This record gives sequence, structure tokens and C-alpha cells, in this order.
Amino acid sequence: MSGSAARLNAIASVASSFEPDYVEAAEITEIFGSNVFSDSVMRERLPKPVYKSIKKTIELGEKLDPTAADAVAIAMKDWAVERGASHYAHIFFPLTGYTAEKHDSFIEPSGDGVINEFSGKTLTQGEPDGSSFPNGGIRETHQARGYTAWDVTSPAYLQEGNNGVTLCIPTIFVSWSGEALDKKIPLLRSNKAVGDQAERLLKLFGHTDIAPVASYAGPEQEYFLVDLNFYYARPDLIAADRTVFGAAPAKGQQFDDHYFGAIPDRVADFMMDVENSLYKVGIPAKTRHNEVAPGQFEIAPVYEAANVASDHQQLTMTIFKSVAKKHGFACIFHEKPFAGLNGSGKHVNWSIANKTQGNLLDPGHNPSENAQFLTFCAAVIRSIHVHGGLFRAAIASASNDHRLGANEAPPAIMSTFIGDELLEIFEQIKAGKALDTDGKGTFGVGVDTLPHLERDAGDRNRTSPFAFTGNRFEFRAVGSTFSISGPLVVLNTCLADSIDFIATQLETKVAAGTEFNTAVTEVLKEIYTEHGAAVFNGDGYSSEWHEKAVSGRGLKNLRTTPEALPELVTEQTVSMFEKYSVLSKTELEARLEIYEEQYTEKVLVEVKTGLRIASTMVVPAAVRFQTDLAQNASSLKELGIEGNFSTLENVSGLVSDLQAKIADLDAKVAVEGDATYACNTLLPALNSLRETVDALELVVADDEWPLPSYQEMLFIK
Ligand code: ADP
Ligand code: MG
Repeated sequence: MSGSAARLNAIASVASSFEPDYVEAAEITEIFGSNVFSDSVMRERLPKPVYKSIKKTIELGEKLDPTAADAVAIAMKDWAVERGASHYAHIFFPLTGYTAEKHDSFIEPSGDGVINEFSGKTLTQGEPDGSSFPNGGIRETHQARGYTAWDVTSPAYLQEGNNGVTLCIPTIFVSWSGEALDKKIPLLRSNKAVGDQAERLLKLFGHTDIAPVASYAGPEQEYFLVDLNFYYARPDLIAADRTVFGAAPAKGQQFDDHYFGAIPDRVADFMMDVENSLYKVGIPAKTRHNEVAPGQFEIAPVYEAANVASDHQQLTMTIFKSVAKKHGFACIFHEKPFAGLNGSGKHVNWSIANKTQGNLLDPGHNPSENAQFLTFCAAVIRSIHVHGGLFRAAIASASNDHRLGANEAPPAIMSTFIGDELLEIFEQIKAGKALDTDGKGTFGVGVDTLPHLERDAGDRNRTSPFAFTGNRFEFRAVGSTFSISGPLVVLNTCLADSIDFIATQLETKVAAGTEFNTAVTEVLKEIYTEHGAAVFNGDGYSSEWHEKAVSGRGLKNLRTTPEALPELVTEQTVSMFEKYSVLSKTELEARLEIYEEQYTEKVLVEVKTGLRIASTMVVPAAVRFQTDLAQNASSLKELGIEGNFSTLENVSGLVSDLQAKIADLDAKVAVEGDATYACNTLLPALNSLRETVDALELVVADDEWPLPSYQEMLFIK
């Protein structure tokens, strides 16, 4: 049998047209949230005092009263059982970055049968044997248990399977000694930190009615769809989520014909099916479109409270994977599954807001709102300047390293794009212009220019890792596989730190007798003069920027994950996180250890997969082809026919290279090394092996080549 049997079968199977189960078109307003234990369900099913008590917990963060918990548990169980649920699961978000769940059935023995039981205690606290989750040395094996506890601010929902329904309860995951073992706890803590500081600043601006301030997020998710038949014929996609080999296709994305193009029917069917599943669990999916690379797409929901947005984002990824399978697709979230084509990101749109003052990153309608807006903006600018290294660490991973700094993705240098108008205003403030009050005691910063700020004025530069887009910032450097929690924790905590700094400056100046508006003017000038170096509106992809950013402006260019991760434990980072009680030194050190290990393991999987494919699939194919050519050459010689043996020579050269590079990588992978070793020694050796494999793909007979090609994976659907 030829080496390409698996490949050819795959093509045949895809071509024999896939017929998914058609879902009935549903009225969105009817199905939206139908599987959520939502506010309206609670209002309907809970006794009034219980409902009031739980609302207080949700909105004001007050502790949940245990008797209320019992009542909620009963109502939740009844609601779930009526809808076919037999089990409940505490859903948590360990430091693997994935979603974890432990299922238990409701049943308890009773007489000679069973009854459904669910108490406040089982609702609010679980005890999965989480000893195998990474803990970075936080837990000793003898006290390895982690505890899960209901996060009341994120609603419970039902997950429907073909053979049953599960009640899912979003939870935190914490160690016996109280350390955060997950991605949710720090997010909740950082949300509180930034809220507290923002409320303090609002008070200084004269507000008296101030509702709790919280952070909000709207993550845009890019992904690839590859037919499962091809996926299963690519061991690298299965094991590493990316192709470690693959020659560039003749047609890639050079015609820009895929971006916002007509969505292929089969993909549209998938999208509608997946959106129905998202709507049922209350995820407000909003936009869908083709992305730049062939086979690449995007979905974005309407933004929500950061904590809920983060849980929903995790759930979105889970649902995408499983629904894609039903449609015969593998959904790939990797940041760079195909070399040479656009990678996938997760643009995290982020803002802070409350019910009384609204979105604090919105320019507003009058001069005093503008001054307040500029102050919050200045705080964001200070954040990325002071903590740029930490921003970079928050988006560091083996997979995102392939994307950052590639020619379609933001560079690893952290700067912010704020649009021309806003830049002009800050420049004027710095130069001491446009700073006067208007004589009536009203603040006049940028009075002339600011009202003209267009909503999307900030959204023209796609090359910035962190862009102001009219009423929010968009963190574009986040990788498509990421939990958005980590980046949000950094954004929130750094902003808390900067607002705190600014509020203190203002308080000090006012206490020393400076008039408030003058104090604001002075502080804005000081902040922008000191931290404006992080503002860059130009082309972030250009090589001039890479030079200027580092040598001229002193910004960090942490190219790789092993360079970036230590930013998690610098003295500055630790003292900030401890000051706002978001993460302790121990928790930060644990994260560094875990993320470094994850990096190393990821690279090792890629290298080992590459080695196995090269040795057991590519070498045999290449050698068979070489043998054919050699036999042909000797036959020709025997017959006295003059032949051209350049292909044989070329293939023979490549086969020797291939064998040498396999041996080299084999030797290197046998050495035990850390993340830096993986980055600086293993990855370059894998890339070098790739060059030879990809060169062979272009010469070996097509009917011998064992791996589905880029062209097949990207274009056959
Ligand atoms: P674009 O591709 O132009 O950036 P999209 O519509 O794809 O825009 O995505 C924008 C995302 O930003 C959506 O998830 C949207 O809900 C979110 N968003 C809008 N306003 C805010 C805000 N104030 N805070 C956080 N996210 C927001
Ligand atoms: Mg966007």
C-alpha cells in the first residue's frame, strides 16, 4: 500500500459530503438562557428573603448566609431535575488553563431505593480530589486536596448531553490553606481591587452617589476549522494542536479572499448550531465572520462582567470543540496551527464601569466628565508603562510565542495605541496648553478637542498589542488558547495600582492647598510626561519600532516565554499584587513554576511528535521514493539510456540531512533541560528538521506523501 493511503482515504471521506444532524431553527429570545439558573428563575422560585439575600451577595459581594444556601440548593436541584438533570458538577478553572469538572449524582439511598438530594453545603462546597492539578509547590501531598466553592456571581447552568443533563456550578478552587489554585479567585480579587480604587477616584471628582465599580470584558475568539478526516491523519495536530511540518501551499492568504468572505455552508451550519448551544447557557454570541487565513473564523459575544465573561469564554471553547466534532470538524484554538499563515488571537476588550457613572473609559459629554475620563486613561497609560513586562508575562505561552512578533500579530513589546485625538490632547497637556479652567471653575482640559472624539477613532491601528478603541481598551496580544482571566487580573490590578497612585497624588496636592482642577491638570501632565513612552500610535510591526522602543524609550522586548515569565515574581510585581491582596508571593511563585513547566512540556510534546512523524512517516516515504528513483536510474543505465538523475541526487541529499537532523534532535531531547533549554536548543533543532521535511514534501511523489498537506487541510471542506 502506498504511504498516502490514510491521506487519500481522508480526502475521499471529506469529498463524500458530510451530512450533520440539522437542528431546528430556534427563536433566540426563547432559547436564550433557557438552561441558566438565572436571576428571573431565582426570583420566581426562591422565597423573597432568600432571593434578596442572594442578590446582595451577588451585587455587593456580601457573604452568603448558610440558610439561604440551603434554600437555593433545593430550588436549584428541583429546577435542574425537572429539566432532566441527574448529576451536578462543580466547574473550576485550574492553572492548566483548561476547565475542570467533577460530576456527582444527586442520588442518596433511601429505604430500598434512592431519592434526589442536594444541600446548601454540597452546593457551596465541593472537595474534588484535585491532587493531580498543578499547584506549584503550594500543597504538600499529604494535604493535597483542593476545595471548590460556589462563585455566587456566576450563574449555574445545565449542560445537555445526548444521554443526560448535568447541573453545572461555577466554583473557585482553593487549597486547604487558602491559596488560589485557579484562575477565578485572582480575577474576583482583582475586580474588587480596581473597583475600590476607582470608587475612591470618583469620590475625589465630587461624586456622592457611587455604585460598585467592576471590570467588563468582551473577548473576540479566532479559531480554525479542519475536517476531522485530515485532523486524524495528522499526529501533530492531535498531540500538539499545531502542524510541526507542512510546506507552504501555492495559494495561501495572498488574495485576501477569505477575510469577511461568504461563510461556506458547512461552516455556517456549524456556527448556527454552536450559537444555539451558547444561547441556551446564556452566552450572548454576537458576531461571526471569516478571518484572514483560509479555514480561519471568529466569534465575539457581547461584553459582560469580567468574571462571567471569563467563565463564558471557557465554556465557549468547550462547546465549540464538542459541536465542531458533531459537524465533522476539529476546532483548533492554537495561536499558530499553520506556519506562514495568520495566527489566532483572542482580543480582550476591557473596561471598568458602574451603574451610576457608567463606563469610566468613555470620553463623556462635558468638560468635567472629560477630565475624569482623561484621568482614568492616564492611569491605564501608567499601568502599561510601569508594568509592561507583566503585561507580556500575562500573555506568555509556548503557542503564543509563535504568533507574537510574526508579521500579522502584535509585537512582544508592550505599548498602547490611543488614537490621534487623544494623543494630541495628552501632548497638549504635556506642553502646558489647553490646561486652563474656563473662569467659571469648570475644568477645561481638552474642551475644544475632546467632544469630537469619535467612538471608533481609536480603532484604526491593528498593529498595537493594546489599543484604545473609543470607549474601552482592547488587549490584542492575548493568545487564542488563553483563559482571559490571567490577562484580566493583570489589567485590573495594574489599573488599581495606577488609580491608587493618582488618587494619592491628588489628595496630597489638595491637602497642600491646590485647587482640585489645578491638581488634576498637574497630575495628568506629570503622568503623561513620565509614562507617555508607552504610547505608540505608529506601525507596531515595523523594525524601526523594535529598535526605537527598546533603545530610545526603554521599553522591554521580551521575545520568548522563558524571558517573559520571570516578570511574575519581580519585586515590583510581588509588592503590587500583595498590596491589593490579589496574589501572594507564594501564589505568584507557584504560577511561575507551573507556567515554566507547561512551556517546557509543550515544547517537548512538539519535539517528540515531530521526531516520531519524521522517523516513522517521512523517512519511509522518502526512502521508498529514493529507492524507486535509484531502481529507475540503474535500469536506465543497464539499457544504456542517458538519464537526468538530479531528483535522485536531491532526494538522497535531503534523506541524509533528514537522518542527521533526526539524530541531532534525538540527542538534544535526551538531555533534561528547563524552559530556556527548550526555547533556545530544542525549538531551533525542530525548526531545522522542519526545513528538510518541508523540502521533501515538495519533491517526494505525491502518492507516497503520508501527511495531509496545508492545501488539503485548509481548502477542502
Ligand atoms: P472589532 O472586531 O471591531 O474589535 P467586535 O464587534 O468584533 O469589534 O468586538 C468588539 C467586542 O468588544 C465585543 O465583544 C463587544 O461586546 C466588546 N465591547 C464593546 N464595548 C465594550 C466595553 N465597554 N467594555 C468591554 N467590552 C466591550
Ligand atoms: Mg477587535
